[in-house]
Amino acid sequence: MLTATKTNISPGKLLINGQWVEGSGKSFDTVNPATGGVLTQIAEASAKDVDQAVAAARKAFEDMAGPWRKMSASERGKVLWRIADLVEANIEELAELETLDNGKPIFESRYVDMPMVADVFRYFAGWATKIHGETVNTFSNAFTYTLREPIGVVGAIVAWNFPLLLASWKLGPALACGNTVVLKPAEQTPLSVLRFGDLALEAGLPPGVLNIITGGPETGAALVRHPGVDKIAFTGSTVVGKEIMRAGADTLKRVTLELGGKSPNIVFADSAMDSAVKGALNGIFYGKGEVCCAGSRLFVEKKVEDEFLSKLVEYSKKIKLGDPLDPKTRLGAIVSEKQMQSVLGYIEAGKKEGATLLAGGKRAAVNGDNGYFIEPTIFGGVKNDMKIAQEEIFGPVLATLTFDDIDEVAALANENVYGLASAIWTNDIKKAHQLSRRLKAGTVWINTYGVMDAALPFGGFKQSGFGRDLGMDALHHYTELKTVWMNL
Ligand code: NAD
Repeated sequence: MLTATKTNISPGKLLINGQWVEGSGKSFDTVNPATGGVLTQIAEASAKDVDQAVAAARKAFEDMAGPWRKMSASERGKVLWRIADLVEANIEELAELETLDNGKPIFESRYVDMPMVADVFRYFAGWATKIHGETVNTFSNAFTYTLREPIGVVGAIVAWNFPLLLASWKLGPALACGNTVVLKPAEQTPLSVLRFGDLALEAGLPPGVLNIITGGPETGAALVRHPGVDKIAFTGSTVVGKEIMRAGADTLKRVTLELGGKSPNIVFADSAMDSAVKGALNGIFYGKGEVCCAGSRLFVEKKVEDEFLSKLVEYSKKIKLGDPLDPKTRLGAIVSEKQMQSVLGYIEAGKKEGATLLAGGKRAAVNGDNGYFIEPTIFGGVKNDMKIAQEEIFGPVLATLTFDDIDEVAALANENVYGLASAIWTNDIKKAHQLSRRLKAGTVWINTYGVMDAALPFGGFKQSGFGRDLGMDALHHYTELKTVWMNL
């Protein structure tokens, strides 16, 4: 149970088997990145706590006479729908907790992220009754069919940039298919997920179906190694994604990975320039650039470079950076001091490599110097082999490059280890579709950036991972396919 008023948030416990319990290990502080102040203490789940959470999830899954396995698909759908209703009913509190913990503008958490959390649960509530196998005609003396069964215990591990939204991407399909879950939010941002735990219980999830354990890499690693976990659904960095694949190999866990990105945002000279400028800014500065699909590599057709970049810089100066709880703020605080130092390090690397700093480039002071704010930063004259063009910065830093034609930009855009998202701005429909096919990315936006819907799959090519969150496709990653053959 997490209780919160504007000035007082209770310490975070662990949700195991339907009960809030103290962790048996240490605890750690969760910090408000806008002030540097401690918000509250959070339990760091030990290997023993992980064991108990997995045991609770396993029991809830295996008990065929228990409430979860006896629940009809329709009733499961209703529970998910009630979760969505409760998220909406508590949207102000959830948004505020997430903004305090993560530093994102309340405008984003209140009007974009939390409404999408509710949408995701409603979307998967509808799927609960539509998960089925097929009867297949084989021999005249056989009855052969397939079943789509839940996998079992899912370990869901998520990143800090969209704490509750990323959790909903795992929980929606996992629960719709009848699995049980042990969820680990990121150590930087556990608060909204902990508060959500209460809402899930209130909605009628039986004990043990959703367990929430907080902690850092060690807690996550204990979950990945655990033989009682059947599948790991992970959102986070590519480095940790690779570790999880290796660690999960011992028990041959099902693994899906939603990892990093360095997404190309491509602007042709024939695009509607004002929309493209706004799209480019939204693509990199929404969520402070701490967005896996951020449009962090902007490719501008050379003949409009000067005009486009001068507008881009001019508009970037109007972005309101400030207190994340102020409804007018559009650029909040970087999630942690460590992340801020890493982003500032990339800005220095960009300058050293010879890119031209066109806007921003420094830490910003908001209400004194304690918060972790960085100005919206734009580099021009970037070469595709520079560090700031190749590596994921995960902050409000845009690298702009130029190109002459579709062949050149297709090659440059694909010259990167990641392949999460991409965008094309043009009024030439044919060119847009031709280039869409050539981009190695899980999503291509045309004349827009960053829009999502619970019904559309989201995930990566190349080192951005595999598997898909959202959409019908996500369901297949939470079921095992069984063939049944009966001789007649
Ligand atoms: P991270 O990989 O460091 O941590 C993510 C989660 O994994 C956290 O909960 C962390 O505690 C846990 N963890 C860390 N080490 C672990 C280990 N060895 N075993 C098990 N769990 C471990 O990532 P981050 O810095 O928190 O998040 C930023 C990254 O997430 C970026 O690369 C971003 O692109 C990516 N991301 C991807 C998507 C997507 O959908 N593709 C969405 C959001 C964020």
